[in-house]
Amino acid sequence: MTATSSPTSTRGPAAPTSTARVALRPLGVGDVRIDGFWADRQRANATAITVGRQRLEEAGNLQNLRIAAGRAEGEVVGPVFADSDVYKWLEAVAWEYARRPSDELLEMQREVTAIVAAAQADDGYLNSVVQVRHGNARYTDLPWSHEHYCAGHLIQAAVAQVRCTGDTALLDVAGKLADHLAGTFGADRRHDVDGHPVIEMALVELHRETGDPRHLELARYFVDARGQGLISAHGREPTYFSDRVPVREAITVEGHAVRAVYLAAGAADVAAELDDEGLLQALRTQFDHMTATKMYVTGGLGARWEGEAFGDPFELPTDRAYAETCAAIGGVQWAWRMLLATGDARYADAVERMLYNGFLAGVSLSGSEYFYVNPLQHRSDAHADGNRSPAHGRRGWFDCACCPPNVMRTLSGLEGYLATRDDAGVQLHQYAPGTITTGEIGLEVETEYPWDGLVRVRVDEAPGPIRLSLRVPAWAEGATVGGRPAAPGYVEVPAVPGDVVELRLPMEVRATTAHPRVDAVRGCVALERGPLVYAAEQTDHDTPVDDLRIDPAAPRTVAHHPDLLGGVTVVTAGDLTLVPYYSWANRGPAPMRVWIPTI
Ligand SMILES: [Zn+2]
Repeated sequence: MTATSSPTSTRGPAAPTSTARVALRPLGVGDVRIDGFWADRQRANATAITVGRQRLEEAGNLQNLRIAAGRAEGEVVGPVFADSDVYKWLEAVAWEYARRPSDELLEMQREVTAIVAAAQADDGYLNSVVQVRHGNARYTDLPWSHEHYCAGHLIQAAVAQVRCTGDTALLDVAGKLADHLAGTFGADRRHDVDGHPVIEMALVELHRETGDPRHLELARYFVDARGQGLISAHGREPTYFSDRVPVREAITVEGHAVRAVYLAAGAADVAAELDDEGLLQALRTQFDHMTATKMYVTGGLGARWEGEAFGDPFELPTDRAYAETCAAIGGVQWAWRMLLATGDARYADAVERMLYNGFLAGVSLSGSEYFYVNPLQHRSDAHADGNRSPAHGRRGWFDCACCPPNVMRTLSGLEGYLATRDDAGVQLHQYAPGTITTGEIGLEVETEYPWDGLVRVRVDEAPGPIRLSLRVPAWAEGATVGGRPAAPGYVEVPAVPGDVVELRLPMEVRATTAHPRVDAVRGCVALERGPLVYAAEQTDHDTPVDDLRIDPAAPRTVAHHPDLLGGVTVVTAGDLTLVPYYSWANRGPAPMRVWIPTI
């Protein structure tokens, strides 16, 4: 039996319109086919998506929607944003279908979409918790109710669904909901913003899909309405909600990390579609400040458990790092949009750091268990701190289950973040073995990345001479392209069919030190190799990892172990053994540390 749905387009999660001001154009989700490191994670994720359907049933999310639809009796359960888990999962199913069409995926998608559609009110409103638990009292507590947030995830899922399968069932729901929002909120309507952004990104993408200018205008309104004092006296300072200063005046990110980076990603979409250079410049400033002062070496974002928030500049504790998995995902989404807008390699560098480390640590090698928080140190005598504590190891689901389906949709749509094109050719930002086919251009990539630094790109097809742009990461001092030294940034290579371009990235182990203002890790080094940050895990040491010290001058060796942790390159430095940070806690939640004091 073969699946019958076909997409109307193969566009990915962020597809600027033809008139948007962007430097680079994303490829379609079907344009990139990968194997190797990330394909292994995607295979595990495919199983997790099927398991996710059961989790949503067990946790009550689907039943909530059935109750709202009048198809079941009872009380709704879970947090006010319970619906959003369903929508993120639906988005994951859509991207997964684009990669690997199957009737099973299509049937799951159609069944759950029908439940969502049935729960929608006649006027387009949809939020099962508000409709049932709160007696349909809408928007009475927008800073906390997550009504726009849930709508945003629904819209994103709907856009993914139509792009990947051609099915418009969820898009119809999303359109009605967006129309309801556009009729309720805005400059000449009710002035209000949701406490948790994501609706901004979603409305821009809906506009990109359907062309309705009201939805783009509402996204712009929500971006500009922030920082105007709309959220006050709601139990937290406006900072928590990214509402202290207007987005275009902010010079840094602050408050709840996921909220902040989702808002910034949506603002980047608005800036691209409206050719708003002032807004884009503000986002550049904020992104630079974030990466320079508020990002962990792992790409983790959010230093404080209190408020799940960014700390002050250089406030980056390792053991108490929050670094929510969702924050790394939002960081990737923001960085990707900045990359499209500017073509600046720093954003692709950030995507790499976040994806391979802060994000990937959030999911087990099995693909079905997750960390909510991602500290850089787990102490021997750590006290378990709620069900989000790493002391418990990764978990199959959470009471607040934002991260698991967020991981699912990111992994299933990962091909969308690897390459772009412009009029002259193709840009490779992240390296994975596989093929890239866009228009009349066909490329084949061979590499063992991230374990090996050799990347070989063959031009199989091209209408004539093209320009290949290969990213040399900022960490790759001494890289070569075609045997010639290549500085960090993009190396542009003219190529014709039959050409093979070889990029060699140096894979020596690097001992990284932090900015001296980061008190938490003064006198420490972190070992990195290629894009991977390494960690010392108790499993590999007799001495408590809390007591380990490292001689920066000690000889380092590397060895690939195909049977260890799904296949990893292990680093030794003196008598220390280190494994990639993303792979920690797959042999039990053992004590671990990234930053190690020097002798
Ligand atoms: Zn989360």
